[in-house]
Amino acid sequence: MHPNPIEKVPSFSDLSLDEQLLSAVKKLGFELPTPVQSQSIPFALEHKDLLVSAETGSGKTGAFLLPTLHNLLAIPSRKAGVRALILAPTRELAQQIFKQCQQLAESTGLRTGLITGGDDFRLQQNMLRNNTEIVIATPGRVLELMDQEIPNFTNLEVLILDEADRMLDMGFSEDVLTIANSCNEQRQTLLFSATLTHFGVIKMADKLLKNHEVIALNTLHDGHRNIEQQIVLADDNDHKQKLLAWLLQNETYDKALVFTNSRIQADALRGPLRGQKLRVGVLHGEMDQKDRNRMMQLFREGAINIMIATDLAARGLDIKGINLVINFDVPRNGINYIHRIGRTGRVDELGLAIALVKHTEWNLMSGIERFLKQKFKHRNIKKLEGKYKGPKKLKASGKSTGGKKKTEPKKATVEKVKIRHRDKKNIGKRRVPTVKPNIEISQA
Ligand code: AMP
Repeated sequence: MHPNPIEKVPSFSDLSLDEQLLSAVKKLGFELPTPVQSQSIPFALEHKDLLVSAETGSGKTGAFLLPTLHNLLAIPSRKAGVRALILAPTRELAQQIFKQCQQLAESTGLRTGLITGGDDFRLQQNMLRNNTEIVIATPGRVLELMDQEIPNFTNLEVLILDEADRMLDMGFSEDVLTIANSCNEQRQTLLFSATLTHFGVIKMADKLLKNHEVIALNTLHDGHRNIEQQIVLADDNDHKQKLLAWLLQNETYDKALVFTNSRIQADALRGPLRGQKLRVGVLHGEMDQKDRNRMMQLFREGAINIMIATDLAARGLDIKGINLVINFDVPRNGINYIHRIGRTGRVDELGLAIALVKHTEWNLMSGIERFLKQKFKHRNIKKLEGKYKGPKKLKASGKSTGGKKKTEPKKATVEKVKIRHRDKKNIGKRRVPTVKPNIEISQA
């Protein structure tokens, strides 16, 4: 399938790529860069680390190969060892990348090699000893070669992880980290994944990327099918505090993560929640490492089952069984939102993410919905119904989600909630029940 480049994208020559690469692109019949190419290439050419959501068929291979080849050509190296390593989950994908790499590098003189299981080990050993510059590989065989101390990644300039989500789902997480740890620390790292909300991908990005740019294409909304996302409107922080306590007392969950935008807010919530006999811990960047470790330990072991955290502290948080995320404060941008909700709804589990939104946060929340190309369900908690019903325009258009005039839930909508396709798909899997009588209307 050939992707449809969007209008007004720059041409390949606008991207200032090497002439040899421009000829190769022309020979392949690529007229214009695809969106993932036009957005990724400029950053990658500047040696930036990247986290990119892009699917097969989007032109992602060109998005990482073209800038990598350009940079290798721009600054020739006399150092020994592999200069660019591309890891892919399957042999077939590795072969596909290899083929495209050979086509693009045809006239450049750069040497490209393929290392996958099932092929001749000796030939691969020799190829690596002959200083092949670009290696495309599956992780398993690279590790086998590493056991023989053959590949030299100490001068590696670029590490690329393609289809990282799939690679992690296939159980390659440790292998990828072992390989990455054997690579030159100063390298550039490009991480491509179909989704950015995959827990393993977030974790891997936390570990491997430095000051990275995030390029989120239109695949974002596909990424969290297993996370139910809701909005609960609130009048102010006091009201939010009541809603939070109610949710933590009435939802069903193993572990819950509550996000605030500030350390002060995180600390302020602890006392009142503990007063409600909830087992709460706090994690923020200004706590010393010992206290943070202790909190994490308590949370991991289940001695506390609710953690209030700031974004910084939650980076790299690797805890199983988090199936409820509550945004006490709306995060400052879409990427932070993705990071937060990605802590729940892991591969085969369902998660629930609830954002408490007051009037000053409405626009921010709408921006996040637009960014994700999603509309979240609005939920009304009857016992704690507040005055704020969303902006006036929305109310006038009848889209208000909890207005007093709108007393009866729409029957059809409630039924829709009950027979969600996703529920059918997940029959037999663990489910996080929501408190349905309080859901008045679904905007999803
Ligand atoms: P990929 O997403 O990298 O697997 O690429 C999907 C298909 O799109 C492959 O057949 C590529 O050869 C092709 N392709 C990649 N970039 C372009 C482009 N700029 N214009 C047209 N086709 C492209």
